[in-house]
Amino acid sequence: MSIPIADPGRWYRAHAQDVAAAQAAVIDSGRFILGPEVQAFEAEFAAFCDAPHAVAVGSGTDALTLSLMALDVAGGEVITSAHTAIATVAAIERAGAVPVLADIDPRTRCLHPGAVESLLGPATRAVVAVHLYGHPAAVDELSALVAGSGVALVEDCAQAHGARTGGRPVGALAAAGAFSFYPTKNLGAMGDAGAVVTADAGLADRVRRLRQYGWDGEGISRVSGINSRMDDLQAAVLRLKLALLGDSVLRRRQIARRYTGVLAGNPDITAPAEVGDIEHAYHLYVVECAARDDLEAFLAGRNIGARRYYEQPCYRHPAYAGLGRSASMENLEAIQGSLLALPVFAELTEAEVDTVCAALAEWRV
Ligand SMILES: *Cc1c(COP(=O)(O)O)cnc(C)c1O
Repeated sequence: MSIPIADPGRWYRAHAQDVAAAQAAVIDSGRFILGPEVQAFEAEFAAFCDAPHAVAVGSGTDALTLSLMALDVAGGEVITSAHTAIATVAAIERAGAVPVLADIDPRTRCLHPGAVESLLGPATRAVVAVHLYGHPAAVDELSALVAGSGVALVEDCAQAHGARTGGRPVGALAAAGAFSFYPTKNLGAMGDAGAVVTADAGLADRVRRLRQYGWDGEGISRVSGINSRMDDLQAAVLRLKLALLGDSVLRRRQIARRYTGVLAGNPDITAPAEVGDIEHAYHLYVVECAARDDLEAFLAGRNIGARRYYEQPCYRHPAYAGLGRSASMENLEAIQGSLLALPVFAELTEAEVDTVCAALAEWRV
C-alpha cells in the first residue's frame, strides 16, 4: 500500500451518490454553462471568502489572466515571485504584460516585500502575491508598498483556499484574488475551473464581461474579451465540496501539526514555518532538507509519495529564461535544491499519517 502525495479520487468514491445526484440534476435541467449552479456557487464562494463578489471562470490561470486584463496591465510590467507555478507567469504574459520575477522570503517561501520594492518602477502596473503552498504572502506590507502609486496588488490564491491572515480569509485582501479549482487543489473540481474574488464591484463587472467576449448585458461586445466560463457540472460538485471545505482545511492543518511535531525532534529536516498572525491552508507541506534526494529515496522505499514542486525557478525554464535577470535570487537559490513536499490531503487516514510520522522520526542524514 503506497501513500500518494495527493489522491482526488478518494473524496469522490466516498461521496459517489451525492455527486451523481447533483450532476443528474444538472443534466435534467439542461443548463450547462453559467447556469443556476454556477450562480449559486459564485454566491457561496464569495461568502466563504468574506467577499462581496466571485466570478466563476474556466481555470485558475484564466482567473489570474482576467483579473490582470480587468486591471489594464497590458503594455506594462507585473512583478511576481520567481518561486511559483509557471501558470502565474503565463497569465501575466497572456494579459499582455512583462513578468518581472522577484526573490522570496525564505521563511514563508512567498514574495519578499524588499525584493518587490527594488523592482518597482514607472512601468510597473501590478504585483501578484502568490500564497504559495497555502502560506499567506505578506499582503499588508505589499499593500503599503504600492499604496497610492496606481500599482494594483493581486492575490494568486490557487493554493490557499481557507488560508487566513490577521483573521481575514485570503481572496479579497487586495484588488482581486484568483482561485484555481484544479482537481488536486484544496477545493478541486472534476476538471478545470477557477474564480476571481473581489470587493470591487466595478472590477467584478469587468471580469464578467471579459470572460465572455467582452459582452455587456445585451450581448454587445464593448471591450475585447475571451471565452472562459465555468460549467454547471463542475459548479454542482464544487458546491458539495465547498460545504465541507472548512473541515477539510482543518484536517490538513491537523496533519501538518503532527508532521511538524515529529520534525521538532529531527535536526536533519526543517518543517515549514507559519510566520505572523496567519492560518496556513497546507495545500502542500514542504520541508527543507540538505540531503533532499536521500530523504526522497528513503520515503519512496517506505512507499510514501514525496514530490519536488517547482524544482526550477521560473527563470530557468527555457521559455522564461532571462526574466529574473535584474534581481538577486539569493534566498530562493539557497533553498531551491532542498525542498520536498510530503503527503497532505484531508482524506489521508490516521494510519497513513502515522506511517509518514514514523518515517520522519527515523530518517537521519
Ligand atoms: C494551480 C495554480 C495556478 C493555475 O491554476 P489552473 O487552474 O491549473 O490554471 C496558478 N497559480 C498557482 C500558484 C497554482 O498552484
